Amino acid sequence: MSDCVFCEIVAGRVRAFRVLEDECAVAFLDIRPAAPGHTLVVPRVHARDIWDISDDSHAGVASLTRRVALLLKDVFEPDGVNVRLNSGAAAGQDVFHFHAHVIPRRHDDGLRLTWSSPLAPVAELEQAMRRITERRE
Ligand code: 5GP
Ligand code: ZN
Repeated sequence: MSDCVFCEIVAGRVRAFRVLEDECAVAFLDIRPAAPGHTLVVPRVHARDIWDISDDSHAGVASLTRRVALLLKDVFEPDGVNVRLNSGAAAGQDVFHFHAHVIPRRHDDGLRLTWSSPLAPVAELEQAMRRITERRE
């Protein structure tokens, strides 16, 4: 897609700091890093989000994401790593070319990517499960 910045990066027409790549996916540094080493992993073939991407392309992104996480562990020696996928504007997606964020974490980095919801009543989980089961079977 010509108006997609990540397609332009994959094609090499827009500059990016490329971390790793293979036949299926490309990993490059995020220009607004949440932490040093924050890397994005994108499929070479344009797909909008988790609902649009093919199984093969998604598997390719997952595989390169793991290689990136291993590399960043070696380089930055973080205490942890977040791998994050945002699909849809409501979930915080700004660039509509599927991508995984790989974010090295430190105990004291102050980043807020987690939640601490109260335990749900069993009835609430049962209701959600009923809706899922109806559609799954
Ligand atoms: P989203 O919010 O869609 O999950 O994440 C999009 C990410 O892409 C953001 O963290 C943003 O900083 C990054 N980003 C947006 N435009 C560019 C770009 O042109 N180059 C690079 N390297 N990262 C970008
Ligand atoms: Zn694209």
